[in-house]
Amino acid sequence: MSVMLKKLFCIATLAVIVTLSGCQSAQDVSTTTTSTSTTATSTTTTASTTSTTIAGDNFSVYFIDVGQGDSILIKTKDSHYVLIDSGPSDASNGLNTFLNSKGVASIYRAILTHTHADHYGEFKDVVGNYTISGFMFANYPNTNSTYVSLMNKLATSSIPTIEVKDGDSFTLDNLTFRFYHPPAGFISTSSDENDNSLAIKVSNQSGVDLLDCGDLETAGMSSLLSRHSGDVDIELLKVNHHGSSNGTNQALLTATTPTDAFICVGAGNSYGHPEAATLSLLSSNSINVYRTDSNGDITVNVNGGSYSVATEK
Ligand SMILES: [Zn+2]
Repeated sequence: MSVMLKKLFCIATLAVIVTLSGCQSAQDVSTTTTSTSTTATSTTTTASTTSTTIAGDNFSVYFIDVGQGDSILIKTKDSHYVLIDSGPSDASNGLNTFLNSKGVASIYRAILTHTHADHYGEFKDVVGNYTISGFMFANYPNTNSTYVSLMNKLATSSIPTIEVKDGDSFTLDNLTFRFYHPPAGFISTSSDENDNSLAIKVSNQSGVDLLDCGDLETAGMSSLLSRHSGDVDIELLKVNHHGSSNGTNQALLTATTPTDAFICVGAGNSYGHPEAATLSLLSSNSINVYRTDSNGDITVNVNGGSYSVATEK
């Protein structure tokens, strides 16, 4: 289905505070962003601008409607792809259809945030159908037979597996991917798999940043913020844990100050996601909210320091 893009206006400007981060050698650009948005029954679009723009510094982010689960595709300016999570194993979830519709033939990095089936289930079909140059994961122990089967398929397909943790990073074209969680040795909580989700910040050179922390819950976020509260000032937030109230709190929003938030969630799911408390908190922080259950596939097109959001419905 084609994306309906309704033209809007937008303005923005603002104060830019350039800080040189002491962590890693990257220059981190903090920007204050304003945006305007409209919501209609069939189209929602937001446009925002940071005040730093580098010509051609473009990328796209696709929050794919895979039902109850996460799958986020990132396309660089040179049309290389990174896939974060695959959504659940369900032939009707549309991941392969979506990838084919975008003409994706090869994936530079497939990244698994954590070992729950609503994040890795469909990788079984992605592996084999596309060329994958590397599979990144935290390698948190999991003996589930489906997960073990995926690991075996990666091995037999000769796809390199790459363990990553806090402090690791890689670049692809104009984008930098930085991992902020989990720490070495993992953390121990009552929800270990969620709380050891990989947290990834994706940044272009013009200061547009996306943060995806998988299903991180309160303890995991607290751990992340204890190490990186100064590194996560972003514009685009993939909402933790499908909008569960244990995944979003004021501390996270205060540290990240997102303009736009994206909830990957299935319609009528049995978990009650997203929870009203999460939606209320996002609203009280004046953050635009998009949801795959009601908006379908969601596309963010970044053009240097500005971006727009378009929804399938
Ligand atoms: Zn999940």
